Amino acid sequence: MKLLPLLDRIKGFFLRLLKKLPDLISGALDFVYPPVCLVCGLYCEKDICPDCIKLVTRPDKKSFNIRELYAYGDFRYYAGYSGVVKEIIGRFKFKGEMWIGRRLGNILYESFVDCFDYYDLIVYVPAGRASFLKRGFDQCSEIAAGLSKRSGLPVLRALESNSGKGRQHRLKRDSRKDNVTGRFRISDVLTKEELGKLRGSRTLLIDDILTTGSTLRECACLLIDECGCLKVDAMVFATGRTDIG
Ligand SMILES: [Zn+2]
Repeated sequence: MKLLPLLDRIKGFFLRLLKKLPDLISGALDFVYPPVCLVCGLYCEKDICPDCIKLVTRPDKKSFNIRELYAYGDFRYYAGYSGVVKEIIGRFKFKGEMWIGRRLGNILYESFVDCFDYYDLIVYVPAGRASFLKRGFDQCSEIAAGLSKRSGLPVLRALESNSGKGRQHRLKRDSRKDNVTGRFRISDVLTKEELGKLRGSRTLLIDDILTTGSTLRECACLLIDECGCLKVDAMVFATGRTDIG
Protein backbone atom coordinates (compact mmCIF):
# COMPACT_ATOMS: atom_id res chain seq x y z
CA MET A 1 0.00 0.00 0.00
CA LYS A 2 1.29 3.47 -0.88
CA LEU A 3 2.17 5.74 1.97
CA LEU A 4 -0.01 8.77 1.18
CA PRO A 5 -3.38 6.94 0.91
CA LEU A 6 -2.46 5.12 4.09
CA LEU A 7 -1.75 8.40 5.88
CA ASP A 8 -5.07 9.76 4.60
CA ARG A 9 -6.87 6.73 5.99
CA ILE A 10 -5.14 7.09 9.36
CA LYS A 11 -5.99 10.81 9.41
CA GLY A 12 -9.60 10.01 8.48
CA PHE A 13 -9.81 7.49 11.29
CA PHE A 14 -8.60 10.02 13.88
CA LEU A 15 -10.90 12.74 12.55
CA ARG A 16 -13.90 10.39 12.84
CA LEU A 17 -12.77 9.40 16.32
CA LEU A 18 -12.43 13.05 17.28
CA LYS A 19 -16.01 13.74 16.14
CA LYS A 20 -17.27 10.84 18.26
CA LEU A 21 -15.19 11.82 21.28
CA PRO A 22 -17.85 13.99 22.99
CA ASP A 23 -20.34 11.07 22.85
CA LEU A 24 -17.74 8.64 24.16
CA ILE A 25 -16.86 10.98 27.03
CA SER A 26 -20.55 11.54 27.72
CA GLY A 27 -21.17 7.80 27.91
CA ALA A 28 -18.18 7.38 30.22
CA LEU A 29 -19.40 10.21 32.45
CA ASP A 30 -22.85 8.61 32.70
CA PHE A 31 -21.12 5.52 33.97
CA VAL A 32 -18.79 7.33 36.37
CA TYR A 33 -21.53 9.52 37.83
CA PRO A 34 -24.57 7.58 38.97
CA PRO A 35 -27.89 9.41 39.29
CA VAL A 36 -27.41 11.75 42.20
CA CYS A 37 -29.00 15.06 43.08
CA LEU A 38 -26.82 17.85 41.70
CA VAL A 39 -27.25 19.85 44.89
CA CYS A 40 -27.05 17.44 47.86
CA GLY A 41 -25.33 14.52 46.11
CA LEU A 42 -27.80 11.95 47.43
CA TYR A 43 -29.10 9.20 45.19
CA CYS A 44 -31.97 10.46 43.09
CA GLU A 45 -33.43 9.59 39.69
CA LYS A 46 -34.03 13.27 39.01
CA ASP A 47 -31.30 15.86 38.47
CA ILE A 48 -32.38 17.78 41.57
CA CYS A 49 -34.16 15.95 44.38
CA PRO A 50 -37.60 16.97 45.71
CA ASP A 51 -36.06 18.60 48.80
CA CYS A 52 -33.44 20.60 46.93
CA ILE A 53 -35.78 21.69 44.14
CA LYS A 54 -37.58 23.80 46.77
CA LEU A 55 -34.42 25.91 46.96
CA VAL A 56 -34.48 26.73 43.23
CA THR A 57 -36.13 29.97 42.13
CA ARG A 58 -38.17 29.14 39.04
CA PRO A 59 -39.76 31.75 36.76
CA ASP A 60 -43.55 32.03 36.71
CA LYS A 61 -43.76 31.68 32.95
CA LYS A 62 -42.12 29.20 30.59
CA SER A 63 -41.17 31.65 27.86
CA PHE A 64 -40.77 35.38 27.57
CA ASN A 65 -41.08 37.98 24.92
CA ILE A 66 -38.53 40.56 26.01
CA ARG A 67 -38.04 42.67 22.92
CA GLU A 68 -35.99 45.36 24.66
CA LEU A 69 -33.45 42.74 25.75
CA TYR A 70 -33.66 40.10 23.05
CA ALA A 71 -35.53 40.90 19.86
CA TYR A 72 -34.67 37.89 17.71
CA GLY A 73 -37.09 35.35 19.11
CA ASP A 74 -38.48 33.93 22.33
CA PHE A 75 -36.42 33.70 25.48
CA ARG A 76 -36.50 30.94 28.10
CA TYR A 77 -34.56 30.38 31.28
CA TYR A 78 -34.61 27.68 33.89
CA ALA A 79 -33.96 29.53 37.14
CA GLY A 80 -32.72 32.60 38.93
CA TYR A 81 -28.95 32.82 39.28
CA SER A 82 -28.74 32.60 43.06
CA GLY A 83 -28.46 30.12 45.92
CA VAL A 84 -28.09 26.49 44.90
CA VAL A 85 -28.24 27.29 41.17
CA LYS A 86 -25.29 29.64 41.54
CA GLU A 87 -23.44 26.93 43.46
CA ILE A 88 -24.08 24.28 40.79
CA ILE A 89 -22.94 26.59 37.99
CA GLY A 90 -19.89 27.59 40.03
CA ARG A 91 -18.86 23.94 40.41
CA PHE A 92 -19.44 23.34 36.73
CA LYS A 93 -17.61 26.38 35.41
CA PHE A 94 -14.91 27.01 37.95
CA LYS A 95 -14.23 23.76 39.79
CA GLY A 96 -13.78 21.42 36.86
CA GLU A 97 -16.99 19.39 37.29
CA MET A 98 -17.55 19.04 33.56
CA TRP A 99 -20.13 16.27 33.99
CA ILE A 100 -22.61 18.80 35.41
CA GLY A 101 -23.02 20.36 31.95
CA ARG A 102 -24.86 17.35 30.52
CA ARG A 103 -27.16 17.34 33.52
CA LEU A 104 -27.92 21.04 33.02
CA GLY A 105 -28.88 20.20 29.44
CA ASN A 106 -31.08 17.45 30.76
CA ILE A 107 -32.78 19.87 33.16
CA LEU A 108 -33.46 22.28 30.28
CA TYR A 109 -34.99 19.44 28.30
CA GLU A 110 -37.23 18.34 31.17
CA SER A 111 -38.29 21.93 31.88
CA PHE A 112 -39.25 22.84 28.32
CA VAL A 113 -40.09 19.41 26.93
CA ASP A 114 -42.95 20.66 24.77
CA CYS A 115 -40.98 23.19 22.75
CA PHE A 116 -38.29 21.16 21.02
CA ASP A 117 -40.34 19.84 18.08
CA TYR A 118 -40.39 23.38 16.76
CA TYR A 119 -36.63 23.62 16.23
CA ASP A 120 -34.32 22.36 13.51
CA LEU A 121 -31.06 22.59 15.41
CA ILE A 122 -29.15 23.83 18.41
CA VAL A 123 -26.35 26.38 18.34
CA TYR A 124 -24.47 27.38 21.48
CA VAL A 125 -22.47 30.40 22.57
CA PRO A 126 -18.82 29.32 22.33
CA ALA A 127 -16.33 29.88 25.12
CA GLY A 128 -13.45 32.28 24.57
CA ARG A 129 -10.02 30.79 23.98
CA ALA A 130 -8.65 31.77 27.39
CA SER A 131 -11.58 30.34 29.36
CA PHE A 132 -11.56 27.17 27.25
CA LEU A 133 -7.88 26.61 27.98
CA LYS A 134 -8.33 27.38 31.66
CA ARG A 135 -11.42 25.20 32.05
CA GLY A 136 -10.45 22.45 29.64
CA PHE A 137 -13.90 22.31 28.07
CA ASP A 138 -16.49 24.51 26.45
CA GLN A 139 -19.28 24.86 29.00
CA CYS A 140 -22.17 25.67 26.67
CA SER A 141 -21.14 22.86 24.34
CA GLU A 142 -21.66 20.48 27.27
CA ILE A 143 -25.10 21.88 28.05
CA ALA A 144 -26.05 21.72 24.36
CA ALA A 145 -24.84 18.11 24.18
CA GLY A 146 -27.03 17.14 27.15
CA LEU A 147 -30.01 18.86 25.54
CA SER A 148 -29.31 17.24 22.19
CA LYS A 149 -29.12 13.79 23.71
CA ARG A 150 -32.65 14.09 25.06
CA SER A 151 -34.31 16.18 22.35
CA GLY A 152 -32.65 14.52 19.37
CA LEU A 153 -31.90 17.93 17.88
CA PRO A 154 -28.48 18.19 16.22
CA VAL A 155 -25.92 20.61 17.64
CA LEU A 156 -24.03 22.77 15.18
CA ARG A 157 -20.90 24.63 16.23
CA ALA A 158 -21.78 27.57 14.05
CA LEU A 159 -20.12 30.29 16.13
CA GLU A 160 -16.57 30.97 17.19
CA SER A 161 -15.29 33.38 19.78
CA ASN A 162 -12.91 36.09 18.67
CA SER A 163 -11.59 36.69 22.16
CA GLY A 164 -7.83 36.86 22.17
CA LYS A 165 -7.85 37.83 18.50
CA GLY A 166 -8.47 41.54 18.93
CA ARG A 167 -11.30 43.21 17.11
CA GLN A 168 -10.18 42.52 13.55
CA HIS A 169 -13.39 40.67 12.84
CA ARG A 170 -15.53 43.68 13.52
CA LEU A 171 -18.16 43.77 10.82
CA LYS A 172 -19.07 46.83 8.87
CA ARG A 173 -22.80 46.48 9.05
CA ASP A 174 -25.35 49.20 9.15
CA SER A 175 -28.74 47.98 10.38
CA ARG A 176 -27.92 46.01 13.49
CA LYS A 177 -24.33 47.09 14.03
CA ASP A 178 -24.95 48.04 17.62
CA ASN A 179 -25.34 44.38 18.43
CA VAL A 180 -22.29 43.19 16.51
CA THR A 181 -19.12 44.15 18.30
CA GLY A 182 -16.76 41.53 16.90
CA ARG A 183 -16.69 39.25 19.94
CA PHE A 184 -17.97 36.36 17.82
CA ARG A 185 -17.92 35.25 14.22
CA ILE A 186 -19.54 32.56 12.15
CA SER A 187 -17.22 29.56 12.14
CA ASP A 188 -15.07 29.50 9.04
CA VAL A 189 -14.95 25.71 8.95
CA LEU A 190 -18.67 25.22 8.38
CA THR A 191 -19.35 23.02 5.39
CA LYS A 192 -21.76 23.94 2.61
CA GLU A 193 -24.10 21.31 3.97
CA GLU A 194 -24.00 22.83 7.46
CA LEU A 195 -24.57 26.32 6.09
CA GLY A 196 -27.53 24.89 4.18
CA LYS A 197 -28.98 23.53 7.41
CA LEU A 198 -28.74 26.96 9.03
CA ARG A 199 -30.44 28.77 6.15
CA GLY A 200 -34.12 29.23 6.94
CA SER A 201 -33.76 27.24 10.15
CA ARG A 202 -35.55 27.65 13.44
CA THR A 203 -32.55 27.69 15.71
CA LEU A 204 -32.29 27.31 19.45
CA LEU A 205 -29.40 29.32 20.87
CA ILE A 206 -27.98 28.07 24.18
CA ASP A 207 -26.04 30.01 26.79
CA ASP A 208 -25.37 29.32 30.45
CA ILE A 209 -26.18 32.67 32.04
CA LEU A 210 -27.94 35.81 30.85
CA THR A 211 -26.58 39.07 32.21
CA THR A 212 -26.82 42.04 29.85
CA GLY A 213 -28.11 40.02 26.91
CA SER A 214 -25.43 41.44 24.60
CA THR A 215 -23.90 38.00 23.94
CA LEU A 216 -27.21 36.48 22.89
CA ARG A 217 -28.02 39.51 20.75
CA GLU A 218 -24.70 39.40 18.97
CA CYS A 219 -24.84 35.66 18.30
CA ALA A 220 -28.45 35.76 17.09
CA CYS A 221 -27.70 38.74 14.90
CA LEU A 222 -24.81 36.91 13.22
CA LEU A 223 -26.86 33.75 12.73
CA ILE A 224 -29.70 35.66 11.09
CA ASP A 225 -27.64 38.11 9.03
CA GLU A 226 -24.77 35.87 7.97
CA CYS A 227 -26.42 32.45 7.82
CA GLY A 228 -30.01 33.30 7.01
CA CYS A 229 -31.53 31.65 10.08
CA LEU A 230 -35.27 32.25 10.10
CA LYS A 231 -35.67 32.62 13.85
CA VAL A 232 -33.29 32.32 16.77
CA ASP A 233 -34.91 31.61 20.12
CA ALA A 234 -32.66 31.78 23.15
CA MET A 235 -32.51 29.41 26.10
CA VAL A 236 -30.22 29.95 29.06
CA PHE A 237 -29.85 28.05 32.26
CA ALA A 238 -30.01 30.97 34.67
CA THR A 239 -30.25 34.71 34.92
CA GLY A 240 -29.59 37.12 37.75
CA ARG A 241 -31.88 39.70 36.21
CA THR A 242 -35.02 40.51 38.07
CA ASP A 243 -36.62 42.63 35.36
CA ILE A 244 -37.76 39.70 33.19
CA GLY A 245 -41.30 38.70 33.67
ZN1 LIG B 1 -30.89 17.08 46.77
